[in-house]
Amino acid sequence: MTRKQRFDRRSYLKAVGAAATTAVVAGCLDDDDDNVINPGTASGFPPFEFTEDGELVGFDIDLAEEVIERAGYEVGEWTDIEFDSLIPSLTEGNIDMIAAAMTITDDRAETIAFSNPYYEADQAVLISDDADFSPETVEDLEGLIVGAQSGTTGEGQLDELIEDGIVDEDDARQYENYTLGVQDLEAGNVDALILDVPVAQNFADSREVQVAFIIETGEEYGFGLRQEDERIDDLNAALDEIQEDGTYDDLVDEWFE
Ligand code: GLN
Repeated sequence: MTRKQRFDRRSYLKAVGAAATTAVVAGCLDDDDDNVINPGTASGFPPFEFTEDGELVGFDIDLAEEVIERAGYEVGEWTDIEFDSLIPSLTEGNIDMIAAAMTITDDRAETIAFSNPYYEADQAVLISDDADFSPETVEDLEGLIVGAQSGTTGEGQLDELIEDGIVDEDDARQYENYTLGVQDLEAGNVDALILDVPVAQNFADSREVQVAFIIETGEEYGFGLRQEDERIDDLNAALDEIQEDGTYDDLVDEWFE
């Protein structure tokens, strides 16, 4: 065998070996793919999901990770995007699970599947501590500038107020996230915000804003999955277990006062 042939044979083996290794790794990854759940959320919704020192934290983050792991899957990469982009991102396969205090609605359930409910909430009307008005009912919002985060059930409430002729269409404000809305409320650029009670209360505790009154909507949050994703049964079973064994209550104690 010449030097050249020997060399060729060695490179051949190396190439084949590398290809075989790649195939094995790819095979593993394929299996792993089903095993990994990449969750997505929309931060700026404390205490469910927000960033602290650049890190994504909150009740939903902890609960989702616990549910995924208990169900026997691996938590993949978190994606943090605008609330409005979560459902498209899920259906396109960029994320596998929505964990974003998302209310289970018939409308959304036409496009995605929801886990069993894991939290209940109504809507609150939030005003500035400096406000010189104190609305007690939706009718009292007449003539005020009212805002909500795009694509939320809070925005749904605002749309109803516009339909009912209580809020003028020109006086409705949409925010990418509620944190920006609260800034505008404190700055006096908007008179009231409509958002989920637990989040409104969290802002009231930490910012110069207060809850004026509550609109009873009786919403329930669920994790969102693609309709064809069969892993939902395992996730629901894990959620049941977490609710029964006290882990859920521990997380509530940790994130809500
Ligand atoms: N629960 C509300 C909804 O589903 C708000 C959720 C959110 O802003 N993260 O629309």
